Amino acid sequence: MLPLPVLEEAQRDLLALPEVGMSVLEISHRSKWYEAINHETEQNLRQLLGIPEHYSVLFLQGGASLQFTMVPMNLLGGRSADYIITGSWGEKAYKEAVKLGSARIAWNGKAENFTRIPRPDELEFDPNSAYVHFTSNETIQGVQFPTEPEIGSTPLVCDASSDFLWRPLPIERYALIYAGAQKNAGPAGVTIVILRNDLLERIPSNLPTMLDYRTHVEHKSLYNTPPVFAVYMVMLVTRWLRDTIGGLAKMEQINRQKAQLIYEVIDRSEGFYCGHAHPEYRSVMNITWRLPNEELEKEFLQQAQANGLHELKGHRSVGGCRASLYNAVPLEAVQALRDFMRDFMRKHA
Ligand code: PMP
Repeated sequence: MLPLPVLEEAQRDLLALPEVGMSVLEISHRSKWYEAINHETEQNLRQLLGIPEHYSVLFLQGGASLQFTMVPMNLLGGRSADYIITGSWGEKAYKEAVKLGSARIAWNGKAENFTRIPRPDELEFDPNSAYVHFTSNETIQGVQFPTEPEIGSTPLVCDASSDFLWRPLPIERYALIYAGAQKNAGPAGVTIVILRNDLLERIPSNLPTMLDYRTHVEHKSLYNTPPVFAVYMVMLVTRWLRDTIGGLAKMEQINRQKAQLIYEVIDRSEGFYCGHAHPEYRSVMNITWRLPNEELEKEFLQQAQANGLHELKGHRSVGGCRASLYNAVPLEAVQALRDFMRDFMRKHA
């Protein structure tokens, strides 16, 4: 979901941006108006997340999936990297890294059906690795790191696609963070990359221009035609987070409150709703659970749909149900889901 006030503002600007006389879909990416949008979006992100000057903020295309390739291409430098795999997306990221060089698995939750994150003593790192990669929130399984993994001084790289901007982040613990915008930050079409500038020095000189982070740092994400509308939407969403919500600490409070409502129903259901993830590591963004059998799951989803509760089907690879409570999902919608879940259980348990 996107915040309603953001959609309403975008609707107004779709015909003509104030003081421009042209639609946001029509302006040139070389115009001073787009430069202002590009600049403000970056500044808003810097302000919300407290991103220091020695980090660059980039707006790229190709989705988080292209970052699975760009990260190893730019950062391996002939060495190996360590991947912590806690779900389907981390697995995909690892598979791409292997194609480009050497990558090791520091821990893999697959044998336990991706229900938890590793304990510190289970992680096996190569002291010479170029970086450690993890997925802060596994969207499909609903498994989230409560805090960053302890990895020592190796650069930490994070796919934060499905929990970006859900709360404040200690940016300086990261060397690089990437996130497709389409969950919490805007519409599909733009991927945000935040990287520490010293990493630029290790990029090999022979990379294709578009796949080299230096190109986008040097040209302030304007080397080629950027996804103007998507960046403009991220600008509106970051303004909403700052001015309407009151910042990321406030957003975290609201998100925790929303998730708590659903987890309480699951925890008190005596097994009727069975959460997928281990309670310590379950996600505040994506709540995943099963019902006693597939028949009931089907009925649950049908009745939910009939009650105006959409998109609750779990990802096709794991089945069951999933509620994605991204930033813009209002508390009232989550309360409606909670009430529906209680009611369904009363009738079917
Ligand atoms: N990583 C995570 C954690 C995701 O949730 C997704 C998309 N759902 C991706 C990567 C892939 O993103 P994209 O479709 O933008 O390439």
